[in-house]
Amino acid sequence: MPSLQSVISCLSDYDPTALPVAQANAIIGQVVEPVRGTEQLAIRAALDRVLAEDVVSPIDVPAHDNSAMDGYAFHGAALSSAGARGDVMLEVIGTAYAGDALGVAPTAGQAVRIMTGAVMPDGCDTVVPQEYVAVQPGGNQIRDQIRFAADAVRPGDNRRLRGEDLARGQAALAAGRILQPADLGLLASLGVAEIKVRRKLRVAFFSTGDELRSIGEPLDPGCVYDSNRYTLHGMLRRLNVELIDMGVVRDDPAALEAAFRSACENADAVITSGGVSVGEADYTKQIMARLGDVTFWKIAMRPGRPMAFGRIASNGRDALLFGLPGNPVAVMVTFYHFVRAALHRQMGAHVAPLPLMRVRSSVAIRKKPGRTEYQRGILAPAADGGWAVRVTGQQGSGVLRSMSEANCFIVLAHEQGSVSAGDMVDVMLFDGLM
Ligand code: AMP
Ligand code: MG
Repeated sequence: MPSLQSVISCLSDYDPTALPVAQANAIIGQVVEPVRGTEQLAIRAALDRVLAEDVVSPIDVPAHDNSAMDGYAFHGAALSSAGARGDVMLEVIGTAYAGDALGVAPTAGQAVRIMTGAVMPDGCDTVVPQEYVAVQPGGNQIRDQIRFAADAVRPGDNRRLRGEDLARGQAALAAGRILQPADLGLLASLGVAEIKVRRKLRVAFFSTGDELRSIGEPLDPGCVYDSNRYTLHGMLRRLNVELIDMGVVRDDPAALEAAFRSACENADAVITSGGVSVGEADYTKQIMARLGDVTFWKIAMRPGRPMAFGRIASNGRDALLFGLPGNPVAVMVTFYHFVRAALHRQMGAHVAPLPLMRVRSSVAIRKKPGRTEYQRGILAPAADGGWAVRVTGQQGSGVLRSMSEANCFIVLAHEQGSVSAGDMVDVMLFDGLM
């Protein structure tokens, strides 16, 4: 695993005091490696887990050519033998039900009544849906006759081909996929009962700051309730990791060192909030630096400027470290724009970048070039029938309500300047992110 210092020393334009978001993410991406452990799970238990190896289809799905409609199966050549009025007439020699093998093969001039999903009889490649067909009932010893317009279907219509969903030997799901509901169904359709997934990540987290009080404690003057641990709990739960909530740690060297050591001995990643800003009079940064390969960045972004990143070790165990800022909105923004991708990488997941959508801003937004901003936005239908975004009220990095009210980030790129009302801006929806 490359050390942080070796990654950083390869960069020609590295400035830890004004680090662009993209560069910070590139550095993090080079340092983080996937955990190795795997486990075998029944497919239902594997929802939201990371597939550890490719799944190759052991069968053709569907296993046979079959009918996509209730109707009549016949050979498409019959369509060109239509009579003077453009009608095709066929004799019905039997009925094919789903799940039932029919032993008969119609010849020219014959058809088989067929239900959706039933195997196509030998010699048939086309199904005419029953609603296009007039049936002339037969009787004693006489078979039913059907009549339909030749232009009601073309040869090959309404037939599902063997293996059209997945051919035997074809890759059904790739390693690194986070399993979604459709994937569980897909695995079941292949008859696959169990799969190998990566072991769950263990993530330890705690809050630092002597002003923090836990719920249930009296709020002394100058104190605030610790909210970051709850936000982190929620964000980490959504990533489906094992949580180790270590509470609030006092700004005391012995308590902090004990907390960092215990965290990195028991977890794959450690996330803290608070104590990483410049001029912080506490011990958090000193102890982070002493326990490992950690750098302290000022990222060219808003909110969320200070952040510590690296790897800490204790008693032969090590863990990734993210020292997030203390401000409640900054915690969420840095989590979503740095930590989330890093944890995905550590859990072995291959996750496509979230889409940015370009929509109209209904308001002017002030913005300085030279930093990326993540304003909290509300995307809603506009009067013109399209969609427009506006900022939530107060955008201060301590105003957690802005995250609660928003349904997207308005992502204002590093180089970009202010936005006028009516300009197009990039938004990243919270759906899929959170
Ligand atoms: P810091 O990064 O430690 O300077 O903290 C910046 C601001 O965030 C201060 O106003 C802190 O009181 C506040 N803060 C820090 N940690 C928390 C937390 N766990 N919950 C709520 N607010 C916090
Ligand atoms: Mg602090």
